[in-house]
Amino acid sequence: HDGPIETDAVIVGAGPVGLFQVFELGLLEIKAHVIDSLAYPGGQPVELYPDKPIYDIPAIPVCTGQELTDRLLKQIEPFGATFHLGQEVTVVQKQEDGRFFVQTAKGTTFLTKTIFIAAGVGSFQPRLLKVEGLEKYDGSQLHYRVKSPADFAGKNLIVVGGGDSALDWALNFAADGPNKAESVILIHRRDGFKAAPASVAKMRERCEAYEMQFIVGQITGIDERDGKLVGAKVTGSDGVTRVVPMDTLLVFFGLSPKLGPIAEWSLEIERKQLVVDTEKFSTNIPGIFAVGDINTYPGKKKLILSGFHECALAAFGAMPIISPEKKVFLQYTTTSPKLHKVLGVE
Ligand code: FAD
Repeated sequence: HDGPIETDAVIVGAGPVGLFQVFELGLLEIKAHVIDSLAYPGGQPVELYPDKPIYDIPAIPVCTGQELTDRLLKQIEPFGATFHLGQEVTVVQKQEDGRFFVQTAKGTTFLTKTIFIAAGVGSFQPRLLKVEGLEKYDGSQLHYRVKSPADFAGKNLIVVGGGDSALDWALNFAADGPNKAESVILIHRRDGFKAAPASVAKMRERCEAYEMQFIVGQITGIDERDGKLVGAKVTGSDGVTRVVPMDTLLVFFGLSPKLGPIAEWSLEIERKQLVVDTEKFSTNIPGIFAVGDINTYPGKKKLILSGFHECALAAFGAMPIISPEKKVFLQYTTTSPKLHKVLGVE
């Protein structure tokens, strides 16, 4: 795509509230672009509790975090939103013509009339392995996510962590197949795992078959040669530090949310939340709305239910900015032929 994408609405965050914002804008015939730093939609329910039941979504007695997301994605299908995943929104700047310039960390740019910030508790970022001198290898020999598994084929791999991501990827790269690594060593600070017991059992089987190795310990230093990472210094539970040779380090310490760049967009912030009114859920900058967990107002409750309501009013609040000439009436999805048309249910 050459130059910025011109649009009426950009939604920052693809959590449940960002997804429902697509729906409420869609009913008013506004198309949206949705951006999330995670590689998949769903926000907290998918990232933090995909298999846990939620009981307080109106008319759905029970559904899991993943089911909620799947249903929302199905519900917003008619509105053809464009998703830009795996990229954090870093820049928001007001332009002279009244629109906003938006840029992501990957360099995707937009010119938009309105912005809906549905950023929840902030963008999820991988927790870093803090070892002196290691940062400079980020992206070359050090990785916090697997973008393309083929990059790891034939490598002498160290995988760090005790959760599902660490175990799943260690097993994946130890197994026969096109992405098989030359060697795989799993390192975790203790001999106990958060990962699924079945994966742990499989890992132990693979170790017994000498297809991979597991070391209890922590990475406390690195070994470098000619500007390349050649080994990790691993301090074991016995207090002894040994050098483990390697050429690629994969770290899975989980994700933690960060308000991050949002703090730099000149928005009024109170205790890490964006201050909004309760008529339109507008921030202090007209044209920028905030919905869901990211906002605050008297009586705010951080519930999915509240976020959904906020989306409806924010969409109506944005209409005078997007289409000042249009008269907007509230219509029922049950009976309105016009809404049936936009929903594709004629
Ligand atoms: P989030 O779900 O946090 O999604 C925000 C998204 O924005 C994230 O995906 C994030 O990566 C993205 N983002 C943030 N900043 C940026 C940026 N700069 N660029 C790009 N992307 C960005 N609520 C209920 O109503 N009922 C329950 O039963 C319930 N149970 C819960 C159980 C647990 C364990 C937890 C932790 C929460 C629970 N909640 C529950 C709360 C509920 O999950 C939140 O209210 C809801 O997720 C808020 O949705 P959201 O879309 O506002 O934000």
